[in-house]
Parts: sequence; structure tokens; C-alpha cells
Amino acid sequence: MAGILFTSVNWGNFGLNIGEAESAVLDRRNDLAKSLSIDSLVFMTQSHSDIVNIVDIVTSSQPVVEADAVVTCEKGVGLAVLVGDCVPILIRSTTCVAAIHAGRVGMTNGIVSKTIDAMKKLNGEKFEAVMGPSICSDCYEVSEEMYKEVANGFPRAATTPSEHKLDLQSELGYQLTNAGVEALNLGICTLESSEYFSHRRSQRSGNPEGRQVGVIWL
Ligand SMILES: [Zn+2]
Repeated sequence: MAGILFTSVNWGNFGLNIGEAESAVLDRRNDLAKSLSIDSLVFMTQSHSDIVNIVDIVTSSQPVVEADAVVTCEKGVGLAVLVGDCVPILIRSTTCVAAIHAGRVGMTNGIVSKTIDAMKKLNGEKFEAVMGPSICSDCYEVSEEMYKEVANGFPRAATTPSEHKLDLQSELGYQLTNAGVEALNLGICTLESSEYFSHRRSQRSGNPEGRQVGVIWL
């Protein structure tokens, strides 16, 4: 059965190197795959690159692939994106699914359109996307320099010149729609909701939190 899932704090932390023993996190990832009745669950290195990795039946046995977006047409292969404020984007068509890690850098480096291009090469119709819990435009204040950089190329994300707050969700929603993908934004802010991990909140408090995960599978 195809599906999507966004975990919350109650599911635990799925990110490595966030102050939790690696074995505990790997066990949790395996337990998640089992509970979803999928054969494998593929994570990404997530380095704010524009690398799109097509996962086939051979590479689906790798627990982590080098990428910030993954696409697969294989049934029973789950694609996972880790987030703690960045925007997790899950896309499906009639033939394949994709998971994208889209933060400020991903919004500007074209990874969304690159992923959709890769999916279109695999044919299919009815492209639909969900944008999961992520930091909202009220909470994502950046430096003036960073704001100006984004405003130059992506004015939809920079509509608060006096406050320097970036609206990643609006720009990413536009990029999806512009590429012919029907997009739904869940509209949940990770920083405002204690049900979700937030990287920025953890920086403010000094307490390491964790990473939730968005998963999609055919
Ligand atoms: Zn917010």
C-alpha cells in the first residue's frame, strides 16, 4: 500500500549526530520500516546539495545515499527526508515517488525542479506534492545580507524587507506549482509547535532536539 508519513516528537529522533547513540537511532529507523511494512527505507546524506538520486532495486538496499532528493519507482521502497525546520517535500506520480530536503539553499539551487524533471523522465501522470512541518515565515528571520541574497533571485520568499524573514514555503509551493505539481502545504510551523523538533528552537535553548522524518513509498 502506497503512503506518506510525517513523524512528530513522539516517534523519537531519526537524525544521527544529534546527541543520541547511533545504534538507538538506527534501531528506530529499522522499527519504522517494519511498522510501515516496507522492504527498505532509504535515507539521504543531506548536505544542501542539488543531487537527485534515483533509487533502483539494487541501490534500495543502501540505508543512506548521497543526495538531497531521492526518486524511486520500486514498490516497497520507502524514501526518507530528515528535517528540523527545513521543508520536507514528498511527491508522487502514477509511476514513482520522491522525497526532497529543501531548506533555504535547496530553495535557491533548483533541486525541486531537478527532482520533478527526473520524475517526468520516468513517465507517469497526476503529480502531487505535500510540504510537511517546517519553519514558517513569521519565525524564520535571517541576517540582512542573507535576506538580500534571496530577495534578488526569489522575491516570493522575501516580502518583509524591514524584518528579514524568509518565506520558504511560499516560494517552494510556487516552484512545485510552476512545474505542474499540485501542492498541499500542511502549514505546520516546527518552531511554534512543540509536537515537532526545531533546529532553531534547539539553538536558542541550547538543548539538542532531534530530527523528524517525512517518508513516502509506493
Ligand atoms: Zn512559525
